[in-house]
Amino acid sequence: MAEINTLIIGGGPAGLMAAVRASSLGQRVIVLEKNASVGEKLLISGRGRCNFTNAEQDMNTFISKYGDNGKFLYSAFSKFGPRETILFFVNHGVNVIEERGKRIFPAEGGSQKILDKLLLECKKGGVRIFRNTPVKALRVRNSRVECVITERDELRADKYIIATGGKSYPDTGSTGDGYIFAQQAGHSITKLFPALVPVRTRETWPKLASGCNLRNIRLKVIRDGKEIDSRFGEMEFTNFGVSGPIVMELSSYIPKWQEGSESLEFSLDVKPSLTHEILTARIKRDIEKYSGKKRFATLARGLVPKDFMRLILELADIPSDKPVEYISDEEICEFVNLLKDIRMNINGLWSFKNAVVTNGGVNLKEVDPSTMRSKLCGNLYFAGEVLDLNGPSGGFNLQICWSTGYISGSVNE
Ligand SMILES: Cc1cc2nc3c(=O)[nH]c(=O)nc-3n(C[C@H](O)[C@H](O)[C@H](O)COP(=O)(O)OP(=O)(O)OC[C@H]3O[C@@H](n4cnc5c(N)ncnc54)[C@H](O)[C@@H]3O)c2cc1C
Repeated sequence: MAEINTLIIGGGPAGLMAAVRASSLGQRVIVLEKNASVGEKLLISGRGRCNFTNAEQDMNTFISKYGDNGKFLYSAFSKFGPRETILFFVNHGVNVIEERGKRIFPAEGGSQKILDKLLLECKKGGVRIFRNTPVKALRVRNSRVECVITERDELRADKYIIATGGKSYPDTGSTGDGYIFAQQAGHSITKLFPALVPVRTRETWPKLASGCNLRNIRLKVIRDGKEIDSRFGEMEFTNFGVSGPIVMELSSYIPKWQEGSESLEFSLDVKPSLTHEILTARIKRDIEKYSGKKRFATLARGLVPKDFMRLILELADIPSDKPVEYISDEEICEFVNLLKDIRMNINGLWSFKNAVVTNGGVNLKEVDPSTMRSKLCGNLYFAGEVLDLNGPSGGFNLQICWSTGYISGSVNE
């Protein structure tokens, strides 16, 4: 038997969970981490508060959050799912709280607390963590990994786990190296896109309202003139387009929707609970009431936030200082049409640098879902974001790491 049983590449949440699990089974484990410290991305997760899983009880609903690839997770979740994850951290002294959208956070201490607990368990299990140790390549022979090559050494183990993360937020160390290692072992990588990322628009006017946040709006996606999706919630204008929770959520589907389409647009309904007729009647009533007393901008201010009001008047071509009694029926109509349907042409996504996760990764057809073992290379395993799995915000992405990390660390070679 080699001196090392399990060698893990990457000290993020997936790699550390794999290390905790493997060492608890008596394995001699080492983790190779290229950064000077482990868990850099984990530390910024949930703005440092770490939304580490979700309390959704219904497994089918939980799995549906991951789209078509979610079914790959049934086996892993049945062994170590969200419930077991919460119990794991609670049993290791982390109090948890549930917030909006069933998001689960540590009650105190945030991401640092989660990382500290993982490191404590690694220490108890005798896991050796080599920091500042980037892996350069895998050497593969006869469908088995023979060794990993670092700048200084070649290291051999019974079993290897690739837990190098994706390509998003590369400053945290996730620079896509794992995809190259997987390819060295014969794996295919599905097309990679940034996901949970702001969206660029062809129009440049969003920058006029940059930073403006709109709540309780409906954002529809229009592909070649037909509505194909629609979300209710919160969004924000940026210098290059739009962002905010519902935009980030929709961003994961945009590359797929763009394929073969002639046009892809957002349609923003700022007043989804009011019809054209109700809005028109309300504005006409207000005009009558404030005739001779107010400017249209003051009236519009009662309908939309101040920083957005300037933008919508600009789009409607109504001078903000125009007295209400001079507003024509055509101007009212144009204003209401805009409240109900502001169009923006989707012009792509921001880069991986700003993306919360990576869409795409190691092809799931080539990985055994019950063990995370490669189907192509006997002693190779995968865990975390390097796999072709991603979910919406709400704790769903870290759950991939806990489950696949735990499962990949569970099998002795
Ligand atoms: C700003 C932000 C906020 C987020 N908030 C949340 C949240 O609240 N909830 C949630 O569920 N998800 C959140 N996520 C997503 C979540 O952080 C990731 O899904 C998760 O960190 C992926 O874990 P991982 O272990 O697979 O990879 P990573 O966390 O990326 O870790 C991979 C590790 O491998 C190391 N590595 C890479 N290449 C090599 C190499 N060649 N040699 C050695 N080491 C290497 C890297 O340095 C890194 O430490 C957030 C992401 C971001 C960017």
